[in-house]
Amino acid sequence: MSIKGKIVIPGGCGFIGTNFVRRIVERVGELEIVVFDKLTYSGDFGNIKELVEKKKVRFVRGDIAELESVKKYFAGADYIVNFAAETHVDRSLKEPYPFVMTNFVGVANILEFVRENPVTRFLHISTDEVYGPTNENNIAKEDSPLRPTTPYASTKASADMLCISYARAFELDIIIARPTNNYGPYQYPEKLIPLFIMNSLLNRALPLYGDGLYIRDWVFVDDTVEALLLLLERGTPGEIYNISAQTRKRNIEVARKVLEVVGKGDELITFVEDRKVHDRGYFIDNRKIRALGWEPKVSFDEGLKRTVEFYASREDWWQKVR
Ligand code: NAD
Repeated sequence: MSIKGKIVIPGGCGFIGTNFVRRIVERVGELEIVVFDKLTYSGDFGNIKELVEKKKVRFVRGDIAELESVKKYFAGADYIVNFAAETHVDRSLKEPYPFVMTNFVGVANILEFVRENPVTRFLHISTDEVYGPTNENNIAKEDSPLRPTTPYASTKASADMLCISYARAFELDIIIARPTNNYGPYQYPEKLIPLFIMNSLLNRALPLYGDGLYIRDWVFVDDTVEALLLLLERGTPGEIYNISAQTRKRNIEVARKVLEVVGKGDELITFVEDRKVHDRGYFIDNRKIRALGWEPKVSFDEGLKRTVEFYASREDWWQKVR
């Protein structure tokens, strides 16, 4: 990779951030890497501890919602890749305010830093949920309207708008990535796939909201990481890129597949009361990132097998973070 200098990675101890940090350490030799993370319930320093001990990564515990802290620890950054966020929709329906602070105010602080300093590129990680519910006849492209329905998605959409306005008004090199649902190692086991895997391993019920027919588009985390590395190198400033593997599955299919891979029966599936707000499906177009040369490499079967292997062999990890 051609990127050089200092990269600051807020949220690098969370799920996608951890996978990104582990990959960038392998791929880029001469890069000063700083992970800046608040270590909320979903962040685990243990995920990158070994890299810090080997002095490949420097770690700072900090909060992007605190401007002074951002100014101090981001100093000298050539690249910023922001994963820091409150990410669980259910939590946003119970207690939305932390989502406003991290997902909106936190991003505003990073943007202020980028405005005042010679940062080469700021890559912000958003989500497909900003488009609100979409379907086969209404597939979201990067310029589709934003119709978020939950506090999680609204705070992400608001931050996206702020990023776009800063890119235009101040001519800054800012890129937004909007991935669909990711799965893979190191995901906090409150999200659907790790929760289902963990419960299957423990012989506990797999809770399916409502009728279980909600559709999500799954992308293996390694494929997302490759897409982000590509955007860091070759994305166009001021642009937005959807990241989707076009692997659309109903939640009930995912539950059955997890049970099959773990080797348990469908009787563990249980239906539970639905969320108050629950988008039926997310359908997004991925042609823009494909045109840059990216394509998903890991099939759902292969990705799920690898994910189950991680959780089956790393009970120490998920028992600790849970
Ligand atoms: P995660 O919840 O696993 O990790 C979030 C990380 O951010 C944690 O390490 C946490 O400690 C840290 N953090 C939270 N608040 C912080 C703050 N105020 N300051 C500094 N650090 C803070 O999340 P994830 O699943 O890895 O998601 C990463 C990004 O990708 C998020 O922006 C999310 O919206 C987006 N995204 C995730 C998915 C998915 O399926 N996981 C899909 C689309 C988009």
